Amino acid sequence: MKKGIFIVISGPSGVGKDTIASKLVKSGHGIYSVSMTTRRIRKNEIDGKDYFFVSKEVFKKYIEEDKFLEYAKYNDNYYGTLKDFVFKNIDEGINVVAVLDIQGGMNIEKIFPPAVLIFIMPPSFEELEKRLRKRNTDSEEDIIKRLKIAKEEINYKDKYDYIVINNTVDKTVDDIIKIIEKEKNR
Ligand code: 5GP
Repeated sequence: MKKGIFIVISGPSGVGKDTIASKLVKSGHGIYSVSMTTRRIRKNEIDGKDYFFVSKEVFKKYIEEDKFLEYAKYNDNYYGTLKDFVFKNIDEGINVVAVLDIQGGMNIEKIFPPAVLIFIMPPSFEELEKRLRKRNTDSEEDIIKRLKIAKEEINYKDKYDYIVINNTVDKTVDDIIKIIEKEKNR
């Protein structure tokens, strides 16, 4: 049986990665890799669906038990991709979609080269700032930190297999579906 593809989506905070990933999953092109994090839960999030929200102690236990494919510290919190989940699914021919920060993307490239790395770019930096503010989920201090991180993150775009500019979500999802189909036929 042909293995599934591990698709890694990265891009600056606020670019729309989660919306894109969720539409991709809804379109039947893969399942979402639910990461574990120590960040506090946002109002609109569901534990076990958006993330597994855990304490730093629990996260450390998972590190010790080697349960992460990769993990990274982002804006003072830990985020990790669960190894078992990814490999079980791709072995069964199911595509797995993970939304990771740049450190995660770069680590995956080393640990698991068959992964397909996609970088989502905002149409402009101004647009990104607008989207982050409109989201209304983070404090001003957090937004400023995220914008600073975004500037650094955009420098890594050329290290990705594909760069997709997110003008509209539907067009971006279509572009990614085309990438998946191309990669599947390799
Ligand atoms: P947020 O707090 O906005 O949900 O996520 C912050 C950043 O962490 C985003 O860039 C998101 O893509 C990234 N992220 C989420 N899960 C993981 C993960 O498992 N590993 C890594 N390296 N980054 C992650």
